[in-house]
Amino acid sequence: MDALRALPSVHQLLEEEPATTLIAAHGRPLVRFAVQRVLEDERRRAVTDAPQARWARVEATVQGLRLPRLRPVINATGVILHTNLGRAPMAAAAGEATARIAGRYSTLEFDPQTGRRGKRHDLVAEPLRYLTGAEAAAVVNNCAAAVLLMLTALARGKEVIVARGELVEIGGGFRMPEIMRLSGARMVEVGTTNRTRAEDYASAITPKTAAIMKVHASNFQVVGFTESVELKPLAALARRHGVLLLHDLGSGSLIETTGFGLAAEPRIQDSLQSGVDLVAASADKMLGGPQAGLLLGRTELVDRLMKHPLARAVRVDKLTIAALTATLDLYLTQSFGELPVWEMIGASSDSVASRARAWQKRLSELGLAVDITPGESAVGGGSLPGERLATSLVVITPRRGTAAELLRRLREHDPPVIGRIEQERVLLDPRTVLSGEDDPVLDAIARALS
Ligand SMILES: *Cc1c(COP(=O)(O)O)cnc(C)c1O
Repeated sequence: MDALRALPSVHQLLEEEPATTLIAAHGRPLVRFAVQRVLEDERRRAVTDAPQARWARVEATVQGLRLPRLRPVINATGVILHTNLGRAPMAAAAGEATARIAGRYSTLEFDPQTGRRGKRHDLVAEPLRYLTGAEAAAVVNNCAAAVLLMLTALARGKEVIVARGELVEIGGGFRMPEIMRLSGARMVEVGTTNRTRAEDYASAITPKTAAIMKVHASNFQVVGFTESVELKPLAALARRHGVLLLHDLGSGSLIETTGFGLAAEPRIQDSLQSGVDLVAASADKMLGGPQAGLLLGRTELVDRLMKHPLARAVRVDKLTIAALTATLDLYLTQSFGELPVWEMIGASSDSVASRARAWQKRLSELGLAVDITPGESAVGGGSLPGERLATSLVVITPRRGTAAELLRRLREHDPPVIGRIEQERVLLDPRTVLSGEDDPVLDAIARALS
C-alpha cells in the first residue's frame, strides 16, 4: 500500500527532465499516454519502479508505437517471389515513379490536353495492349479481384464450367469454388481430378452457361495419368457455343521463361493468342511490378467489367499506377535486367557461386568459417511449381546453441536476414539477396555468430 501511495502523478512526471526531452522528440500526447500506461502497470503490479527504470519503460512504450512496422528485410530464403516478404521487389524506376507522384497532385483521372475527366486504368492500357496484343486492358487491386470482377460482371446468375483439376486454392483463402460462390455464378465442375477432356466441357454447356473458366494450376503439379484441354480447342468450343472463355492465369509472365532454363510458364500474350476472351493476371509475380491485377481481352468485356459497381471497390490507387507504368516501360524497352525478379531468375549458378565464395572469404577474414553447398532456389509466388534454379547456399553451423537460435539472431538484425534451417544448420541463398545487400548480410552473420 505504501508503495502505491509513493507513485508520482502523471502531471508530476511530465514536469521532470526526461519528459521534456521525450516530448521534444515525440510530442506531448504520446509521452503522456506512455507515462499513464507505465504508471498503470506499476499500480497493477503493486510496485514503484526506480525513476530510471520507469523512464526507460516510458521511452520503450513510445518507441513501440512509433516503430516502423513495414520495414525492409533481406530475403536469403532463395524463394524469389515470397508472398510474406512482399512478393516481387520492384525496379528502381518503379520506386522513383511512386515517389514522384506520392506527395503531389497528378493526372490520375484528368486529361490536361482536353481539361476533361480521364479514366485511371486508361493510363496503363496503351503499354499493356502493345505488350500483350490485347484489344483492351484494365487494372484492379490484384488478380483475385480481377477474377472476382470478371465472374461477377459476366456470369452472375449463370453457369461457369471449370475442370475439377483446376479448383485450386492459391493461398490466403483464395479458393476457386468460394470465389465462384461469392460472384453469384454457379460453378459446374467437369472431368476428374486428373483428367478432363473436350467432351466433358461440351456436354456441360447449357443455355444457362455464361463461360468456360480455365484456371492456371500455378502452385502445384499433377503428374502421371493426366489429361487437360489446351486453350485453343477450348476457345474454339466456347466460340462454337457462343459462351466466353475466361482465363485465371495468375503469374502472368510477359517473357519466355524457357530462355532462362525453366519450364514454360504461359505468357499473357500466349493466352490471348489462343483465343481467350478475357485473362486475369498478377502484376507482382513474374511481371515484377506492384500488387495489381491485370485484365486483358476484348474491349466490350473490359468495358462491362469497368462499369460494374464492384470495379470501384477494387480499383487501384495512383501509386500502383505510377509503379506499374514504370515497370511496363522496362518491358517496352526490353530492359529486363533492371527488373530484380528477372535479374534473380537470370543469375547463372556460377555467378551465385562466386557471390557465395566472396561472402565466405570476407567472413573468414573475420575469423568466421562457413561452408558452401549446392542447392536450389525457387521462383515461388505460385509460379512454376517443381521448377528449381541451381544455386550455391552459404551454410552456417551454430558455434553455440541451436540453429533455430542462430536463425532468430539473424532475424533480429536490422535489417532482418531471413534464411532457413536444414539439418541443424542455417542456409542462406545469395540468389535472392539484392545487390547492395551483401554488407548487411555479412554484418548480420558476424553478429549472430559472435
Ligand atoms: C496468384 C494467383 C492468384 C491470386 O493473385 P493475386 O494477385 O495474389 O490476387 C489467382 N489465380 C492464380 C492462378 C494465381 O496463381
